Amino acid sequence: MALFKKKDKYIRINPNNSLRTPKKAKPEVPDELFDKCPSCKVVIYQKDMGAEKTCPSCGYNFRISAQERLALTVDEGSFKEMFTGIETKDPLNFPNYKEKIAATKEKTGLDEAVVTGTAKVEEQETALAIMDSNFIMASMGTVVGEKITRLFEYAIEHHLPVVIFTASGGARMQEGIMSLMQMAKVSAAVKRHSNAGLFYLTILTDPTTGGVTASFAMEGDMIIAEPQTLIGFAGRRVIETTVREQLPDDFQKAEFLLAHGFVDAIVKRTDLKATIAKLIAFHGGVQ
Ligand SMILES: [Zn+2]
Repeated sequence: MALFKKKDKYIRINPNNSLRTPKKAKPEVPDELFDKCPSCKVVIYQKDMGAEKTCPSCGYNFRISAQERLALTVDEGSFKEMFTGIETKDPLNFPNYKEKIAATKEKTGLDEAVVTGTAKVEEQETALAIMDSNFIMASMGTVVGEKITRLFEYAIEHHLPVVIFTASGGARMQEGIMSLMQMAKVSAAVKRHSNAGLFYLTILTDPTTGGVTASFAMEGDMIIAEPQTLIGFAGRRVIETTVREQLPDDFQKAEFLLAHGFVDAIVKRTDLKATIAKLIAFHGGVQ
């Protein structure tokens, strides 16, 4: 049978009976140079997006990491990170959870799905939390709840406003009921902060869903969203199956929520920093 084996991988008879010549090696283009906009499908040269990572064609906001968000938002060198080193536990002995946490920490350089601390935004001092969807879809487990609660407690003690960039796939299922409890725990801290007469601002970024939407994301004195952000509690398909109705195309988009009074304003990523500073100034900040 070896008689019929193809000896030269480049010379083969194809169905047209012509000889195929070796393909020239394609010039290699590194993947990270270009991105395709998921909204308008235009291929974008990454440098054209700028640090904001916004599509120059349609304004779609790519998801950015907590580190990138921090660089866009706070005055240089003003961020003091707090409440690090709280260990993520595995209360249910959930299969592979510990390994997943360890790998995600390594990949993202974060210790959990939220970064907390204090910072200045155009000279306005604030307590700040940024959730990062690269960390297990920024799901809310005990550590996320604990860090945000401590941030509110610190803000009460030091008379600071709180600004939170939310992003979340919901509660962290690997921690079961412990993660659902965080909704009530954080909400209680939000209320104490409010009772102290302090300002709380939430900025909803793509995607903000589940238990985070059902608690502190929607409890801000003012609620801002980035354009086209997905905001919801249950997923679209779950709702459609339950109510047996087809939902509008823009259902659960920031623009739909603004039209129906759930969001106070939609602010472009490029304008967020100035808007945050202005709102803090209006609510007792530096004039
Ligand atoms: Zn686009």
